[in-house]
Amino acid sequence: MLEDKNQERTSLEKLGEFGLIQHLTKSFKLNHKSTLKGIGDDAAVLDFGGKKAIVSTDMLVEGVHFDLSYMPLKHLGYKSVMVNLSDIYAMNAIATQITVSIAVSNRFPLEALEEFYAGVALAAELYKVDLIGGDTTSSTKGMIISVTAIGEANEADITYRNGAKPNDLLVVSGDLGGAYCGLQVLEREKEVFKVNPNNQPDLSPYTYIIERQLKPESRKDIKGLLQGLEIKPTAMIDISDGLSSEILHLCKASEVGCNLFEEKIPLDPTVISACEEFSIDSTLVALSGGEDYELLFTIDQKDFPKIKGNPHFSIIGHMTDKNEGANLVSRSDTKIPITAQGWNSFS
Ligand code: ADP
Ligand code: MG
Repeated sequence: MLEDKNQERTSLEKLGEFGLIQHLTKSFKLNHKSTLKGIGDDAAVLDFGGKKAIVSTDMLVEGVHFDLSYMPLKHLGYKSVMVNLSDIYAMNAIATQITVSIAVSNRFPLEALEEFYAGVALAAELYKVDLIGGDTTSSTKGMIISVTAIGEANEADITYRNGAKPNDLLVVSGDLGGAYCGLQVLEREKEVFKVNPNNQPDLSPYTYIIERQLKPESRKDIKGLLQGLEIKPTAMIDISDGLSSEILHLCKASEVGCNLFEEKIPLDPTVISACEEFSIDSTLVALSGGEDYELLFTIDQKDFPKIKGNPHFSIIGHMTDKNEGANLVSRSDTKIPITAQGWNSFS
């Protein structure tokens, strides 16, 4: 969590732009057949044969999307890749390549960028994607990161947001709210640190939720899990902004309504205890917290026996006719319209 003040600092000017790119990218290897040309020319060249190419891009801005006072740069590199791969997996595709572009001010030494790239390299290795290019430039203040992820899929496997039908089941992978709770812990410790820099907090009870915030994983495994169950989702989206916002996207794109059952929302025990500690409602956290990078999808009702009881998935509701709207069915069995910020009774 704390910055090591004794680190070496090599000025970026020493290397020059080309030296820097070469230095940061030299250890990356290409593993995909589809990567014909990676880093080193004016553009990369890809060949997906008979498959469709899937492309997604995201930008991360210091002070808006991340805070370097508690986000180690290696984690930031890893998370920047995860955020983008998640969008490829949400199309039911396989991620194959990434480009990574960075803008940094002269406050960043070479060692800081090495840390960032160590995170990128770990993500690329674990998720089997080739780094095929990027751009390196300077900023007047702060760090800006843009990652583009590229993937491949058979046309028939691609899952859009618009395929859900009334009576389809609404399913989510993993559990929700952890990343937001982790952020609350980190923000609190940052304030404590400002007052007492020598305080060594015991964060071990929060390991899971802090990892969900600082080192999220994206759900590369879901495509294969669903294939193994012989289920083709009818619609899919990744949970970057919170369950309620993603449900509304699915409903809008598919022109359906939905009933989401509060009691079915999957929460890790550490999320429940952190919510108690911070006096926040755990349902609200799952609905509005965001950054969980789980996948939310719909399946035909006939597939219920195939997925029922599966530890990777929770069936949290079902889709309805559009005119019924998108609703949360609370534990006390009242229907509350879902809004992007959570739901009305809490605003
Ligand atoms: P150009 O002037 O054509 O934009 P660059 O000098 O920016 O070329 O980049 C040279 C090569 O290095 C290209 O293949 C580019 O994709 C790659 N590259 C540049 N910056 C990065 C980076 N931060 N990470 C990975 N690859 C990079
Ligand atoms: Mg360039």
